[in-house]
Amino acid sequence: MTRPDPDTLSLLASRPSLRMDVQDGLLFEDVPLHLIAERLGTPCWITGAGTLRRRTRNLHHAFVQAGLDVALHYAMKANDHLATLTVLREEGCGADVVSGGEFLRAVHAGIDPAHIVFSGVGKTNAELTLALRHGIGQINIESVEELRRLSSVAQHLDLTARVVLRVNPDIDAGTHDKISTGRAGDKFGIDWERVPAIYAEAAALPGIEPIGLATHIGSQILSPAPFKAAYARVAEMVRTLRAQGLSVETVDCGGGLGIRYRDELAPPPSALAGAIRETLGDLDVRLAIEPGRWLAAPAGVLLTSVIDTKHQPEGVPNFLILDAAMNDLARPSLYGSWHGIVPLSPERAHADLVPQTVVGPVCESSDVFATARPLPALQPGDVVAILDSGAYGAVMSSTYNSRPFAAQAMVENGQWQQIRARQPVDALWTGEMLPDWLETQ
Ligand SMILES: *Cc1c(COP(=O)(O)O)cnc(C)c1O
Repeated sequence: MTRPDPDTLSLLASRPSLRMDVQDGLLFEDVPLHLIAERLGTPCWITGAGTLRRRTRNLHHAFVQAGLDVALHYAMKANDHLATLTVLREEGCGADVVSGGEFLRAVHAGIDPAHIVFSGVGKTNAELTLALRHGIGQINIESVEELRRLSSVAQHLDLTARVVLRVNPDIDAGTHDKISTGRAGDKFGIDWERVPAIYAEAAALPGIEPIGLATHIGSQILSPAPFKAAYARVAEMVRTLRAQGLSVETVDCGGGLGIRYRDELAPPPSALAGAIRETLGDLDVRLAIEPGRWLAAPAGVLLTSVIDTKHQPEGVPNFLILDAAMNDLARPSLYGSWHGIVPLSPERAHADLVPQTVVGPVCESSDVFATARPLPALQPGDVVAILDSGAYGAVMSSTYNSRPFAAQAMVENGQWQQIRARQPVDALWTGEMLPDWLETQ
């Protein structure tokens, strides 16, 4: 990891939605970001609707080119704002949801329940009931216990649940430990050896119609090899089940395609399409994928202002203290993730670089966005954009340190509009109550 950090110009060169204008500074989908920062204040999340559309079309195109008809079920946990969901619905996506809340949000955004897949390792009876009553298209089952519970819920409602078994192919996706999900011993998916018996049980259970298999081996995967290995195993399982006389109509290939945050060589969508065609293309199954990060991450930036620069002794990088923190964007503190940081001002973008450690104001030593990052000298009030924060960004925010949820805006084709109000400070204690025996002031 001694490769130098990419500078501003090379970061922008590989991100077609972003551009540095000599007059207006950093543009996102042709909107000068300083205008939004001035109007809405910082921290402020920006979502690029055009970027979401372009990436959805690119992904779809890669599958068409490979001769595959693949349904896109956007994994909405990556970014669940109604505006994001609406754009992706307009682009033809269904949704992959992991809670009753996400399910209702997707329905509220106009996504047809028939195009919704319910994933996740612990779905409550109430959540399963909700989804079945709305006519959900597919429920991905994580265990035999869940399968039996769903059977009784569905029978009680006099409905039939179309289920897919999420199998654990025991493949190491080669990604961060905290986002690997397809190894034996991870909490996700059904153990390989047990799949045929559980599938047969599903076919016999009342209220259950097994329609296929699913796998999802992790996130931010940077090579086609683990995808290919996992899908080859799933194909083998499809053949095994069919040989037992069981019907398998669909394979859900999950999400996980990685992106370039720093200088990673992320596989293009054509590599994923190729892996799917090679392994599952001849099986006569309906195919689906569940991309989250790949669609949403590059479609978002977080605008944040410099509060202070804190000087350190000679030889130690100075601290750059921002008004965004780990409660807003958690990824760097959670996973040590690297995000590009670009000043909005065109003069700053071309100034000399000095290593700086970029931190937020939260009272935790892990509240660090970047360590010894080469950046131009900045002043209090300067605004920077933290790039590629459209996935697992705003959705993971908390109000730790009584910091309100940040404002949000959407840009597209030179226009912008606010899509979420900054949370008012007094909303932070709405819903809190005092027990009777305490004195109110
Ligand atoms: C999180 C998740 C996804 C999306 O993963 P990305 O890496 O964001 O593409 C897809 N499917 C399931 C079951 C998930 O849990």
